[in-house]
Amino acid sequence: MILLMTIPNWPAFTIFLAGVLFMGWAIVFQTRVCLSCGQVSQPDNLVTAPSFCRECGASLDDGAT
Ligand SMILES: [Zn+2]
Repeated sequence: MILLMTIPNWPAFTIFLAGVLFMGWAIVFQTRVCLSCGQVSQPDNLVTAPSFCRECGASLDDGAT
């Protein structure tokens, strides 16, 4: 309760925190590791995982894992 009182705009802070958590979740679960060269590919956006390796162009479909 004291923590909530010390944050002046805690509703906005809560939304901000939710956004940070979503971005963290998205980056972790949308990251793909290339099976051909081992390169880790970060997602181009927060919705879809990368389809192809940026290093060697190999497919990074979920079925490959
Ligand atoms: Zn690769």
